[in-house]
Formats: sequence, structure tokens, C-alpha cells
Amino acid sequence: MTQRFDAVYRQSIDQPNDFWREQAQLVDWFKPFDEVCDYAQPPFAKWFVGGQTNLCHNAVDRHAATRGGDNALIFVSTETNTEITYSFKQLLEQVQVMAAVLKAQGVKKGDRVLIYMPMIPEAAFAMLACARIGAIHSVVFGGFASVSLASRIDDCTPTVVVSADAGSRGGKIVPYKPLLDEALALAAHKPAGVVMVNRGLAPMALQAGRDVDYASAAAQQQGVQVPCEPMASTDPSYILYTSGTTGKPKGVQRDTGGYAVALAASMKHIYMGEPGETYFSTSDIGWVVGHSYIVYGPLIAGMATIMYEGLPVNPDAGIWWQLVEKYKVSVMFSAPTAVRVLKKYDPSFIKNADLSSLKALFLAGEPLDEPTAQWISGELGKPIIDNYWQTETGWPILSLANGIEPAKSKFGSPGVPMYGYNVQIIDENTGENQTQANQKGVVAIEGPLPPGCMQTVWGDDKRFIDTYWSSIPGRLVYSTFDWGIRDEDGYFFILGRTDDVINVAGHRLGTREIEESLSSHSAVMEVAVVGVADQLKGQVAMAFVVLKDAPAYSTPEAQLKLEGELMKVVDGQLGAVARPARVRFVPLLPKTRSGKLLRRAIQAVCEQRDPGDLTTMDDPSALSNIKALVQT
Ligand code: AMP
Repeated sequence: MTQRFDAVYRQSIDQPNDFWREQAQLVDWFKPFDEVCDYAQPPFAKWFVGGQTNLCHNAVDRHAATRGGDNALIFVSTETNTEITYSFKQLLEQVQVMAAVLKAQGVKKGDRVLIYMPMIPEAAFAMLACARIGAIHSVVFGGFASVSLASRIDDCTPTVVVSADAGSRGGKIVPYKPLLDEALALAAHKPAGVVMVNRGLAPMALQAGRDVDYASAAAQQQGVQVPCEPMASTDPSYILYTSGTTGKPKGVQRDTGGYAVALAASMKHIYMGEPGETYFSTSDIGWVVGHSYIVYGPLIAGMATIMYEGLPVNPDAGIWWQLVEKYKVSVMFSAPTAVRVLKKYDPSFIKNADLSSLKALFLAGEPLDEPTAQWISGELGKPIIDNYWQTETGWPILSLANGIEPAKSKFGSPGVPMYGYNVQIIDENTGENQTQANQKGVVAIEGPLPPGCMQTVWGDDKRFIDTYWSSIPGRLVYSTFDWGIRDEDGYFFILGRTDDVINVAGHRLGTREIEESLSSHSAVMEVAVVGVADQLKGQVAMAFVVLKDAPAYSTPEAQLKLEGELMKVVDGQLGAVARPARVRFVPLLPKTRSGKLLRRAIQAVCEQRDPGDLTTMDDPSALSNIKALVQT
């Protein structure tokens, strides 16, 4: 059926050097590489060794030189009613100003810069400016709060933090500065400077000697020229934190050259974006999709990219489709949750817009359920392409490479392994590959991971090996921590996580992080957080708490008050994104006789499923209490 793609895929696995050498032509190199891949020390892969390049040069300068007047960054905020379009030439000017401001703050090649910002152009300027001068950025999602932020500050020890006075969501101002100040007070590491963008949305006191107002600093740098730093292909470009089984988020470290090549190749083979067209990804720069497909990918491909601040339903549920019409968007990228939100509204919002420019809608980040896929496919009348990947990989593991050869999609499946990914389904007990169709196992990738994937965990090579490469007995393979099956046609289906990670509205959260946060409240003795299926958000977090002094909270009023307090604790420490949908109080938690928490049994009961084999459970009443509670 897909002979051409199959041949390309086979080449990418069997002769990876030939395959990737060719893809590397898609980017500019300051110095050619000597070796395509050095995999002398598995699982650490080094791509395009000896080569020098720069992400900002590939995303901005090379287009500014040839098509400087073309649209590059289109900023739309329905929160502040702002629309600004920057051409490649204007983007280059802005990025150089930001780069000069960062340099004036003492930022040097290899230093970290933490970016804690809403969806405003300065956030993209800051990312690109870091890439330009060789600083390693670490963008922290604006929805995270002080404790999340402080732990990231301590882990990546930034020289400078770039932030803004506030974001806005649904017309509600969300001040950032107080959270940042709190995080800086909590963190042991003290950055030398804080660069603040003042949007005029919230009061913002600058701390003398530390905080700098961006507008004033930028005014001194107008017209400045800051050259792109030649970066070794293997130099880190950024760190992006993501949640896992333990409470401490992991810093996913990405390289420079491999990432540039991987994104350029994906724009051509998977997303099929052409220079001069417009790409619209509805994600946030705080997530990996924002890094790869709001900022770097489309710009590297010479496309204009839309950066959208606002809700999908404000001023009405047609806003995204109006933007597609207005800016002639050719490729759109969103998440199933967003589509489920839009599904509640009149489809005429879609029908009333001229969508003739749109080639396809890509969806990723969480499972795409069939009713949602059917609905959007029917209303849009365009290909809907589900793609599966992770913060760790930076670009799709599973998708359809329609740019190589058109393939048919199957509802419920994110497609087939993409070139470069040697994907296997592995029996977690025996460590053997599942060779038959429809056998369930862990979705795993044989090393080396292709270009663009994580190099290591920031500052912790051991954790990289222990976390990702050691979970399958007897094998050095990368675990995605997702269950999956492959059907008789080679299409994969993802069946949920193998670990304690949950996915709320496409946002990946660690249940342990939420548990740790709730445990910091003095009334809490013990807590279990599980992800429970939700029609709109895919999953929501549900917390079960054992209190130190249960009689003190025996009335429904007292419990309701405490539930509110506990939610506030999570809001304040981790951010509203991690807030459990409910906090319920129980006398004890279901555990095995050896004391292991039976999260899966709790989850099953919450979803009204059979909890399975409970012979090792210590006290069965723990689970029946929960069952009774969730049924009320
Ligand atoms: P993140 O690192 O935040 O992008 O989350 C990655 C996780 O989201 C994966 O390991 C999957 O559990 C889930 N995921 C991402 N894309 C898909 C998809 N297309 N279908 C099913 N699950 C997905």
C-alpha cells in the first residue's frame, strides 16, 4: 500500500547515516559535520558530530536574507484585542534587541535563561534570542505556580529569568510577578537578573538591583546587531521539564543540530508546510508542541506562525476558523480536548469560515477518541491526522508521513512509526518483542533515538538511563511508558500510560507531584491521586485523603471547606492546571500487605470498572469505602 514510505522508513532504520545525511541538507551549517551519528556510548546518541549551526539562524536569519518581507510571527490576542504581524526582517530586529538585553544582563553561551511568560511575542523573541547567543532556554508553562517554578530554577540554575507582569485567560488577569517573586524567594539559586515585560495588565514592583524593565532596556538596543553564535551540533539548545513517576520533574535536554534537522524534516514529510504558508498551532510555548511547532519548526520551514493568546471560544467558537481564513492557514495543529470543547458549539462556526487554504488538521497530546475524530472530520472536510509523541522526543514517533506518500488514516490510531524511530511493542515481563498483530505491550524505541529527541536528563545522565532505558528486563531500549498494540496493517493504537502519569486536557501531570503538594497541608496524613476518565478533558485528577484528625472534619461543611483549602494549596504550589477535580476524605487507602498503594484499583473503581485481582490487598474495606464515595 505505502511502498514508497516503507522504503524510506527501511532506509532510515537500516542505513540511518545515509538517510539523515540527506535530511541534514534542509538546514544551513556554519561548518559541515564529520560524522552523522556517534553511538559509541549507548544510549547517548550524538548527531551530526563536528558540525556547527544555529537554530535562530535557520529559523530567522536565512529567511530574513531572502524573503525579509514575508510574514514570520503573527501574534493574536483575543484577551487584549491585539494583532501584530512581524515579517522575518522585523523578527530578526526584535530577536537581536532581546539578545542584546540578555547579553547586557551577563548571559553568555551555555548559560541558562528561564522563560516564564504568557503567549506574547516577547516569549518567542526570548527563545530565539537564547538560541542566537547560545544560551540554553528553559520555558516554564505560565500555568505553573511558585513551587513548580522554584524547583525548575534550582535545577537549571538560570543566569537570568525573563517574565511578564501578567497573562490573561478568559478576560481574567493572571499576575505572574507575585508567583515569580515567591518562587525566587523559595529557590536556593538566585539568578543575577530578572527581565520583566510590562504589558500594563497588573501592578509590577521591580526589585532594585535585580529586576529590569524590558522596554527601557530594549530602548537602548534599537538597531543593534548581535551575530548568531556558531553552536556545535551537540550543544544543548534547551531544557524543558516534564513529569514522570517521581515527584521531581525531569529536565529534558535537547541538542541543536539534530533538533534543527528533525524539525525541518518533519515540516516537509509529516506536516507538509511550504515556505510562505501559515502554520497555526493552538498549543502554548510552555509545552513541547509550542517549542517545536509554534516557534522553531514553522520558522525553520520559512512559514509564518500564529501565536494565539486566548480561549478557543472567545469572542465566539469561530475564532480559530476566522484566523484560518484571515491568515490563509495551511497547516493547523491542536489537541483533542480543544476539539471536544468546540464540539459543544454550533458547527456553523466552522462552516461560516473560508477554510480553502487549510490542508490538514493535526491533533496530538492525548488519545483522540473516535466520536471527536468523526465530528471534526465531518465538519471540517479535511484530513485529520492524529500524531503521537512526547516531550522527550520533540517530534512525532507515530503519524502519517503524507509528505512522502499519502496514507490512509484509521480512527483511533495515531498511525505508523515515523522514519528514524525503530518502534517495538515489548512484553514487559519477558522483554521480548511482540511479533504478532494486536498483542499488547510497552511501546519502546530501539536506540539510537533519532535526531531531535532528548540527549539526556539535564545534569543527570544516570537518571536518563535509569528512567528511560532500564524498565524493560534485559533490554537497553527506550520506554515511552505507554501501552500499545500494532494491528495487522502496522497501525499502532495507544492504550494509556504504564506509569503514574496522567493526561489532563493534553497536559501531562505526575500524580506524585500532586500528592506531595497535598501532603504539605497540615491536616493531611496520607493521600492518593489517580487519573479518572473525563468526557471533556480526557482525564481529571482525583484525590483521596486520609486526615490526621478526621473527627475535626466530620461535617460536610468542614469537609467542603477543607477540600477548597487543599485545592488552593495545589493552585498556589503547582498551578491550577494540576488542581484535582475533587478531594475526597477516606479513613484509609487501599494498599497491598507490603504497603504498596493500589492506585490502579482506585482508578478502576472511580471509572466503575472491575478493579481486577485484589488478593494481595490488606484491608478490602478501604476500596469499598472509595467505591461507596464515588457512587454518591
Ligand atoms: P507530553 O510529553 O506532555 O507530550 O505527553 C506525552 C504523552 O501524552 C504520551 O506518552 C502519551 O501518553 C500521550 N499522548 C501524546 N500524544 C498522543 C496521541 N496522539 N494518542 C494517545 N496518547 C498520546
